[in-house]
Amino acid sequence: MKLGCHVGMSGSEMFLGSVKEAVSYGADTFMVYTGAPQNTRRKAVGELKIEAGHALMREAGITEFVVHAPYIINLANTVNPETYQLAVEFLAKEMQRTHAMGSQTLVLHPGSHVGAGEDAGIAQIVKGLNEVFAQVPVGDRKVYVALETMAGKGSEIGRSFEELARIYDGVADNSRLKICMDTCHLNDAGYPVREDFDSVLEKFTRYFPLNQIACIHLNDSMNPQGSGKDRHANVGFGEVGFDALCAVTRRPEFANTPMILETPYVPKVGSKTRDLAPYKHEIQMLREGVFRENLIEQIQNEA
Ligand code: FE
Ligand code: FE
Ligand code: ZN
Repeated sequence: MKLGCHVGMSGSEMFLGSVKEAVSYGADTFMVYTGAPQNTRRKAVGELKIEAGHALMREAGITEFVVHAPYIINLANTVNPETYQLAVEFLAKEMQRTHAMGSQTLVLHPGSHVGAGEDAGIAQIVKGLNEVFAQVPVGDRKVYVALETMAGKGSEIGRSFEELARIYDGVADNSRLKICMDTCHLNDAGYPVREDFDSVLEKFTRYFPLNQIACIHLNDSMNPQGSGKDRHANVGFGEVGFDALCAVTRRPEFANTPMILETPYVPKVGSKTRDLAPYKHEIQMLREGVFRENLIEQIQNEA
């Protein structure tokens, strides 16, 4: 099992700090944003402490991590040409940063059509990915753009495997694409993650072989199947539930697939701000395979 979580990358330690954080949770893998997920300000690659981070990864036996593109990138936008152009330029740079950092997987939200309709949105995403791939040479080590399965909130593209397959169909070199499966998003998009994950994978394989899954975002959901909402819950504290999520981590098909928790931070007792990372405890609980009803209290007590 390759289990980890998203970690920060900031301050003077940057990527080294990300690895330290992952190690502190007992993670075997992790995910980083190359800067704040909601903006495009980025430090130069030379300032990220990449070498030191990799040295610590080797020491800790971490062999793989993934990068997430900022969610303001919207390749599907046909309404505002500047948004689309920024998305193309930024995604090209983000692929190069991912390569320089030593990761093979860049997770991308396909985009939102912002009212223009699915067909226009999908066509624009295809155009954008073709432009980006034409700009960025494959190089010595391939970086895959992993399209994330989305909840279908607002006008999001990628709420179904069929929509993701239509993107693959249009992209000239779709050997540069992979998929990131988010269990909260799948649930919210209407797939029966809780009741029948076998059938979810069966539907997936109508469009893609299972080896197209580059990583899994392992999240519970605050909302019921098909709600189209996208609000993550702590593992076992949502509508997907512990048993279903634990079963995903045990699937032989995913033995080598990075599984990344993006579950919410927990507030201190009597506080409203969520500033306690739940990951060490959630990772332990998933490894042990036994649900802890008092997990949130355990996190609070340790703080
Ligand atoms: Fe995401
Ligand atoms: Fe996700
Ligand atoms: Zn989400």
